[in-house]
Amino acid sequence: MSLTHLRKPSFILISGLLLTIAFSAISLISYYVANRTLNQHISTNTLPLTSDTIYSEVQRDLLQPILVSSLMAQDTFVHDWIAAGELNSDQIQRYLYSIQQRYNAFTAFFVSDFSRNYYHSSGVLKQVTETDSADQWYFDSRQSPNEFDINLDFDTAAPSTTTLFVNHKVKDEHGKLLGVIGVGLASQTIKELIEMYQNRYGRQIYFIDPQGKVTMQGSQYQGANDIHTVTGLKELAPSILSSPGGSYHYDNDQQTYLIKTRYIPELSWYLIVQHTEQSEAQITTTLWINLSFSFVVILLVLLLQHYTLGGYQRRLEHMANTDPLTGASSRHAFELVFQQILNYAKRQKHPVSTILVDIDYFKSCNDRYGHLLGDTILTRVADVLTRNLRQADTLCRWGGDEFFIVLPNCHQEDARLIAEKMRQEIETSLHIVDGKTLNVTASFGIAEYTTDETTASLFNRSDLALYRAKSKARNQVEVTTNTPINDA
Ligand code: GH3
Ligand code: MG
Repeated sequence: MSLTHLRKPSFILISGLLLTIAFSAISLISYYVANRTLNQHISTNTLPLTSDTIYSEVQRDLLQPILVSSLMAQDTFVHDWIAAGELNSDQIQRYLYSIQQRYNAFTAFFVSDFSRNYYHSSGVLKQVTETDSADQWYFDSRQSPNEFDINLDFDTAAPSTTTLFVNHKVKDEHGKLLGVIGVGLASQTIKELIEMYQNRYGRQIYFIDPQGKVTMQGSQYQGANDIHTVTGLKELAPSILSSPGGSYHYDNDQQTYLIKTRYIPELSWYLIVQHTEQSEAQITTTLWINLSFSFVVILLVLLLQHYTLGGYQRRLEHMANTDPLTGASSRHAFELVFQQILNYAKRQKHPVSTILVDIDYFKSCNDRYGHLLGDTILTRVADVLTRNLRQADTLCRWGGDEFFIVLPNCHQEDARLIAEKMRQEIETSLHIVDGKTLNVTASFGIAEYTTDETTASLFNRSDLALYRAKSKARNQVEVTTNTPINDA
């Protein structure tokens, strides 16, 4: 089917479909591009920035306890007191208490390597033993090559609280280990920090140890306890745990996550800042506004199309169906209705008559007075014919100076009377045209439809009658006999 054969409804449907596809595609493409740009921006700018900020905040929060612990380890009072044989535990107790108060630490402690006593601001809490797993930290610290270690553990003085301990070695002037001293920071402080950032940036923030276990997280954390158990993330675990920092993304449960990792040497932990890739509400709203606007525009365009095309179609149909000069039906349009009229008449057993009209000596009229006057004559003749027709009758310009008239519900005798009236009117009214005496006349051939006759046969019989009228000196009406003419 070529485009020119598209009917109006299919044309509107196809253009509607094309517009919908185009508008939706444009809206969706902009939506995805905006989303991608935003997520790219988050991955390359915002996430690393958040990670850096948290990193420096964590470092700042840790630096003070490290410094305090280092000062305690160097303190002459501590050294003297140990050298004096740990005689008066009140003294170290008061010392630890004052440190705790001054630096706003959660706890302050000293474990002597000689007595294995665990001194705390509230007294001697216990003796650390290698067999007690709760005391393992002390022996780890003892073995450690570092001057200090940071350890997240339950506090011996407040067992329900996880505390971040800075365990600093105390050594005498010969480098002999005297014990481990330090302060503890309630892990709540770091947790609050995590939560503050989580709320501010809407990102998930947590820490993992070098084995991939989650060591600290905000209260809203819903992830797994080990990154090795998370689909998508476990594949990244080896590279996360072997590099000081990096940017990654992974898919899990139809969601894409962007993560930024960073190793914190003081804690031997990795800081993970995770962003869930999602459509920002504003972009989604814009998409809906775009789509709604597009649909309104499409609807308006289609309505406009409907009315414009309707108008054009009616005009085109009129042009195709009407002879522009005389306003009579064109032959093409007439042939379509002619058969229908005959079929209807046959069913209803109604008579149908036809009149074929031809202007007499029209050629010489044309030759003598020119085509323009010829056209006027054609129009005037058509006017006379039309005036004498009823609503149901159809006038067709058959070609040249020939008109064909179909009269439903009309016997040939009545048709003859009508034709006679037409003939007289032409003769009298077109005697003088445009001031020229022309004596325009016309000849008429009449036939009545007989059942089982074809349109061609009916026309040919009218033509025969017309031929007779022309032979009899023209300007007269002739009727055929009712014998159908065989098409063959
Ligand atoms: P007859 O009495 O035997 O019908 O003689 P005639 O001269 O009328 O012969 P015919 O019907 O064959 O001539 C038709 C002429 O009509 C020929 C052509 O030049 C002229 N004609 C056809 N169409 C038009 C038209 O649209 N305008 C004008 N002015 N003339 C036309
Ligand atoms: Mg003629």
